[in-house]
Amino acid sequence: MVKPENKTKTILGKKSQDTKKDSQEPVSQPTKKDSQDPIVEPTQKKRVEKQLTKEERREKKFKKFQYQEQIFQVGDVCRFFNENGDLIGKIMEVLSTDPKDQDFGKLRVQWYYYKKDLNQKQIKLSNKQFDAISDVEIFPTNHFDKTFVQTINAKCTVKTLEEYEQLEQVGEDTYFTRASYDLNKKTFKPEFKEWETSCSCKLPTNPLQQYVQCEACQEWFHPACEKTTVDDENFLCSKCKETE
Ligand SMILES: [Zn+2]
Ligand SMILES: [Zn+2]
Repeated sequence: MVKPENKTKTILGKKSQDTKKDSQEPVSQPTKKDSQDPIVEPTQKKRVEKQLTKEERREKKFKKFQYQEQIFQVGDVCRFFNENGDLIGKIMEVLSTDPKDQDFGKLRVQWYYYKKDLNQKQIKLSNKQFDAISDVEIFPTNHFDKTFVQTINAKCTVKTLEEYEQLEQVGEDTYFTRASYDLNKKTFKPEFKEWETSCSCKLPTNPLQQYVQCEACQEWFHPACEKTTVDDENFLCSKCKETE
């Protein structure tokens, strides 16, 4: 599988660390502006502008837009490239469709963190616990931001862990999520210790790690934890061996 980190084809801005953690909702500026301006279309074309009151006009949301021949809409999870590097976010709102408005061409996004965005010390996990967090795992956060439409790189597919494990082929930009992350409290919801585990080590399942299945109980184990190898075709876990 291609790791998302390796697909940095069209970086629109320079990488600078930690500025995205600003609480002041910094605007992510693409350094190179695309010649193609985003076309933003209102979803409710039937309504006549004149009939709307000021209040209604302000409340009117634009839910769909076209950018580089692809339709995006509010709720889509996308990969973005801006001056903070490679980010994943959910489109929450199209901010303005008025070219004279300073927010024209900007989206309000909810950032989803990758494992690389988490600080192991801050979340108080051991090395083994941190290894259980997957590189194809993302965490919705309470970090909101504005970013230009031109920083969109690709649309993503977000699955649950269960769905992810059922996939026969994992497409590009497919991730799973099993918890959200609160960047103020530095905590997950549900908590790490509540995540579904596998193996005798009782660590959360990481679909990118190798496991062997016990013939008897059908549970999955890390070969190293059970002192075996992935090639063991008649593997019995230590617990089942005891009761045999
Ligand atoms: Zn284990
Ligand atoms: Zn077993």
